[in-house]
Amino acid sequence: MSECIFCEIINKEMPSGVVYQDEKILAFRDIEPKAPIHLLIVPKKHILSVDHLRKGDRGLIGELFLVAQKLARKYKVDKTGYRLIFNIGKDAGQTVDHLHLHLLGGKKLAWA
Ligand code: 5GP
Ligand code: ZN
Repeated sequence: MSECIFCEIINKEMPSGVVYQDEKILAFRDIEPKAPIHLLIVPKKHILSVDHLRKGDRGLIGELFLVAQKLARKYKVDKTGYRLIFNIGKDAGQTVDHLHLHLLGGKKLAWA
C-alpha cells in the first residue's frame, strides 16, 4: 500500500469517483464536496505541494489547468463560473500532501 492517500487512488488501491484520466493526470470527486461540483485534479507524480514544484513540472501544471477547463465544460459550470484552488501548507488548510487542484462550481461560491 502507498503511504499517500492520493497515490492509493492513483494506483487503484482505493476506490474513488474518477472523472478523467490520462497518462499524467487523474481527476476524481472530492469525498466531502463543498459545492455541487467539487473535483480534485491531481498529477500522477507524487509532488507534495505547489511549494515543491520544480522547473521541470512547468508543463504538468499547465496540463492540470487545461484538464480543469475541460472538466468545467463537461460538468457545465464553464458558463456559470467556477473556482480553482491550490491549498498550500497549514494556514491554507492543506490536508493531503499530494498536490491537487480543487475545481468547485454549481453554486454561488462565498469568498474565504
Ligand atoms: P486539501 O484540504 O488538502 O486542499 O484538500 C484535500 C481534499 O481531499 C479535501 O477536500 C478532502 O475532502 C479530500 N479527500 C480526502 N481524502 C479523500 C479520499 O480518500 N477520497 C477522496 N475522493 N477525496 C478525499
Ligand atoms: Zn501521493
